[in-house]
Amino acid sequence: MSLLYSQCEARPFQAGRPILMEQNFAFGVQRRAMVEQQLRRRGVHDERVLEAMLKVPRHEFVPPDYRHLAYDDRPLPIGESETISQPYMVAAMTEAARIKPGDSVLEVGTGSGYQAAILAELGGRIVTIERNPVLAANARDRLDRLGYSHVQVVTGDGSLGYPPAAPYHAIVVTAGSPRVPQPLLDQLADGGRLVIPIGSLHQQMLRLIFKHQGQVAQRDLDACQFVPLVGQHAWQDEGDSD
Ligand code: SAM
Repeated sequence: MSLLYSQCEARPFQAGRPILMEQNFAFGVQRRAMVEQQLRRRGVHDERVLEAMLKVPRHEFVPPDYRHLAYDDRPLPIGESETISQPYMVAAMTEAARIKPGDSVLEVGTGSGYQAAILAELGGRIVTIERNPVLAANARDRLDRLGYSHVQVVTGDGSLGYPPAAPYHAIVVTAGSPRVPQPLLDQLADGGRLVIPIGSLHQQMLRLIFKHQGQVAQRDLDACQFVPLVGQHAWQDEGDSD
């Protein structure tokens, strides 16, 4: 009798936990489907990148109203008129950056912090810079809560790079620019990789730039559509035309 009583008492204390576990299980299933169908099938083959995409809970990086769409094949709003990028784009950019443990990495365009978490899973020392202070503060809180306190979040114009932590083995720019900002090239280490969408306000090409002994070589990877990189070495203002 007393055993039954204590079991009954224990239930309200744990209320909500089974539901949470069920939700996390369901999100895990969706995440695996995302990796197999949207990433591996489309040509992302780096197992370390696929593992990171399988591990990081994307649903924690989107507003509650969009959580049920977190593993869909699309960007989603994150507030402040900005977006979290499509999962395939995050994976493709991360793969192109070829990050090794210990690499120094700059992400320009923190947004939700999701791409920064993926980059951190590959063992890099990550600095991420965001021009919008509200998004930067939210990303900081979220990254702390999810165990990514070692990611440095900076508020500022990322088209200027971030000289205090330069040079970088990899720079990943998650907003579209009309040209490659010179400070980013200058802050790239020898042997470094820069991944950046270049083009008009409406359509860009994902470009991979290598730096080797002071020379740069580049390769176009994929057509893409990003929100604008707004800053001193990019679009001057969101109202600018191309
Ligand atoms: N990587 C983000 C994520 O995982 O959620 C998505 C980035 S969102 C597509 C582009 C972000 O770039 C926006 O948050 C925007 O405020 C930011 N941005 C635009 N221009 C910037 C600049 N000059 N410096 C830093 N961030 C900038």
